[in-house]
Amino acid sequence: MIDLRSDTLTMPDAEMLESILTAKLGDDGRVDANGRGEDLTINQLEDMMAELTGMEAGLLCPTGTMGNTCGVLSWCKAKDRVLVHEQQHLLLTEKFLFDEEYCRMEPIKYAMNEHMTPDVEQIDRLLAESGAKLLCLENTHNFSGGYVIPVAEMAKLRAVADKHGAHIHMDGARLLHAAAALGVPVKEITQYVDSVMVCISKGIGAPVGSVLCSTKAQIAKAREIRKVIGGGMRQAGIIAAPGIYALEHNLERMKEDIANAKLTASLLQGKLKKLSMQDEVQSNILVLDVSKASVTPSEFCALAEQKGLLIKTVLKTCVRLVYYRGITSEDAKKAAAIILELDQQI
Ligand SMILES: *Cc1c(COP(=O)(O)O)cnc(C)c1O
Repeated sequence: MIDLRSDTLTMPDAEMLESILTAKLGDDGRVDANGRGEDLTINQLEDMMAELTGMEAGLLCPTGTMGNTCGVLSWCKAKDRVLVHEQQHLLLTEKFLFDEEYCRMEPIKYAMNEHMTPDVEQIDRLLAESGAKLLCLENTHNFSGGYVIPVAEMAKLRAVADKHGAHIHMDGARLLHAAAALGVPVKEITQYVDSVMVCISKGIGAPVGSVLCSTKAQIAKAREIRKVIGGGMRQAGIIAAPGIYALEHNLERMKEDIANAKLTASLLQGKLKKLSMQDEVQSNILVLDVSKASVTPSEFCALAEQKGLLIKTVLKTCVRLVYYRGITSEDAKKAAAIILELDQQI
């Protein structure tokens, strides 16, 4: 079985697990005058991610959802207006910030332009009309198929946010794949944002956790918010140690995931009759639209499973293939062959 449901499926290997045994642990809830907890391993991971993203400080959270929540709430209050992409994970999957039952923020939705990057002119207009003071970006963009925001576009987004006195929060669940795709250091992308959340539990291969990075003052606020919503984790060095291991060993290999996703795409290019593939695969996600077929996305997934390929539905009409450590180029070729076979049947 080839399992391309998500890059959260990576399993820690023996060495990664061994990193836990020697990790220096302590109570992260006991904070010193500098706002640092007593778990030295958590502190080390937070510092590494801050360094990588060019930020002053980091905050380990159990999930990306909590990292985004703490990040956004460090800039805004409940009921505030916030600019988000219409298919942003924060809006469609996490919901907490925008849900009637919870923070009741008002989402002001922007779209992508024809290059599949956030529409700067529309964002300019929406910021002016709404008076919103926070712009949320997602890089890479999950539901559209892992599209990457190029550095030059980031500069334009920064300029337009500055024009309206707005901050920028980036959902960088797959920021490390974005940097690998662009071939630039991570901080070249994040120099244009005020806060960023990066998952260590996705393509980079650690089992649990995400790190929110920003200024020292902002992270101090986010730490308070994390505590209130139940994210204080004591000796969480046991999840930080694999994260450190992943940053030290797995960054270089992220290019392979992108190459494998592109390999499947190249084998499908021009050959699909019923399915339609996203215009360009840029990172480790490949999305196929099933709307022209006679089966639903979940029926398509069931057919794929019968042939040995596990994939997942995304949005209303699509299915998603995600590449990660453990998926080989052979798997990528087989996945393409299965998709092509099914495309003839549906
Ligand atoms: C996975 C993901 C998150 C965070 O997910 P958790 O399951 O809460 O860790 C946030 N944003 C995007 C784009 C994601 O893909």
